[in-house]
Amino acid sequence: MRFVTFSRGTDGEPTFGIVVDETTVVDLVKGLEGEVDVPESLLEYIKSGPELHRSVVEAVDGREWPAALTCHIDDIVLHAPFRPGKIIGVGLNYVEHVEESSRTLDTSESLPTRPVLFSKPGTAVIGPDEPILHNAMMTSELDWECELAVVIAHRSKSVTESDAMNHVFGYSIVNDISARDQRRSGQWFFSKGQDSFAPFGPMVVSADEISDPHSLQLSLTVNGEPRQNGNSKHMLFKIPQLIADITAGVTLETGDVIATGSPQGVGAAMVPPTYLLPGDVVAATIEQIGTLSNPVKAV
Ligand code: MG
Repeated sequence: MRFVTFSRGTDGEPTFGIVVDETTVVDLVKGLEGEVDVPESLLEYIKSGPELHRSVVEAVDGREWPAALTCHIDDIVLHAPFRPGKIIGVGLNYVEHVEESSRTLDTSESLPTRPVLFSKPGTAVIGPDEPILHNAMMTSELDWECELAVVIAHRSKSVTESDAMNHVFGYSIVNDISARDQRRSGQWFFSKGQDSFAPFGPMVVSADEISDPHSLQLSLTVNGEPRQNGNSKHMLFKIPQLIADITAGVTLETGDVIATGSPQGVGAAMVPPTYLLPGDVVAATIEQIGTLSNPVKAV
């Protein structure tokens, strides 16, 4: 299923629902009232575990929804699916991106031998169409990275590679916004963790809908112009390796997100280097998930 968190109008209470075709959203709590006890938020839903998910999948299968329970996706405000407890980023996880980074970001040209990990705080999370903040005091090199986001299903510690996919609830998109100048000066936290540097959404697609997360096309545009185009099959460390590696040292919890790395085509590698400026609109698309679009705004 395809889950969204949304409100009707700008001051409506957020709720969550499912996208039943390209444009129709059903409020899941109201839609299954009296039939399946659905919690109020997507994060609580994921925490409830696979039994609830199976009941909901069964209940919504092939169902005709009365108009009173549906809305058009253009008539609602989409939010970030939820605020993850933590976002773990994976640097240099696509071969061509390792190459372009070594040319432009002073990183090594040899491929990493284990995942390069960092984290983003929950305060960096924004939803679809919310502004990425361009703080000129902090950066003049604001860059994009379209990444497949893995949403963790439940508490995960010391997970083996063979068991890792059982810990995945679903997939989404994170645009790993990066201040390249902060990174170059050694400030990873300001490079990756500033407010608004983790656009997340527009939906979470449950793992049962994506048969192979390692064959998804990723792309990104700035003001409609193509910038990134890649495929998750080129990930250096695949999702099971990432989960096994991370949980060897850090417990992952329900709703934690792994941003699995960016393909080639970042602004720092363009000739000349080209960065995001206020007024730009950056749109990250992943096949079978959707498009996450955000404007850039000066602060
Ligand atoms: Mg990244």
